[in-house]
Amino acid sequence: MARESEAKRTERAQRIAQALRALYPDADCALKHESALQLLVATILSAQSTDETVNRVVPALFAKYRTAADYAAADPAVFEGEIHSTGFFRQKTKSVLGAARRIVEEYRGEVPDTMEDLVRLPGVARKTANVVLGTWFGKNEGIVVDTHVGRLAHRLALAWRSRNEKDAVRIEQDLMEIVPRREWTFLGHALILHGRRVCSARKPACDRCALASDCPSAFRLEAVKSPSSRAPDPARRRAARTARTSPGSAPARRDRRRPS
Ligand code: SF4
Repeated sequence: MARESEAKRTERAQRIAQALRALYPDADCALKHESALQLLVATILSAQSTDETVNRVVPALFAKYRTAADYAAADPAVFEGEIHSTGFFRQKTKSVLGAARRIVEEYRGEVPDTMEDLVRLPGVARKTANVVLGTWFGKNEGIVVDTHVGRLAHRLALAWRSRNEKDAVRIEQDLMEIVPRREWTFLGHALILHGRRVCSARKPACDRCALASDCPSAFRLEAVKSPSSRAPDPARRRAARTARTSPGSAPARRDRRRPS
């Protein structure tokens, strides 16, 4: 793509935000919740997991733990079992119970509503704080950058300073610079939906994408093959041939496949 001026990029970003408004007028957080505390807990549990998995786990959790004090008093071993299916259950238990303890001790049991206070809670980083502030408190303090938002920001060339799709800090700064503040929370939700429904990691559906006219990557990304379906490159083929003809290589391969 030819170098784009800042003004052109900003105009394009605003057209993209408008198109997303038309596509997903009700875009919202997909995690089940009915309070700031529930949203905070669900968001912590959603790290490295799916919203569906978290939504299956939280009804029982929310019925049992109704206040921050309930979580603060929870038995970590029991809690680990209750959230086990969301993955990383030990770390998440520390985060949820630790955050709850601080909410009880320093915020009289109420989830704080500022970025400064939220990121002081154990296990709460800027992304989680953005979800709670934007979705529950209606405050546009930042933009949630998850895996979908990172990927789309790069494909749409809206993140020019970030090194890659995982560079969440710079991606958020770039997006905040070119999208009006009132759109920040919406943009995060809408890009996540678009990433799930249209511009997936493996196979972007450019032929049915309403953003194609403003997307420099449109029709330029071939479907990304899974690692198992990729043809081995010449170096890997040579290494495999050498391994097959080297003395002792076959038992070694068998050992790798069947660890004792
Ligand atoms: S045009 Fe293609 S690459 Fe660009 S956002 Fe749409 S699906 Fe993704």
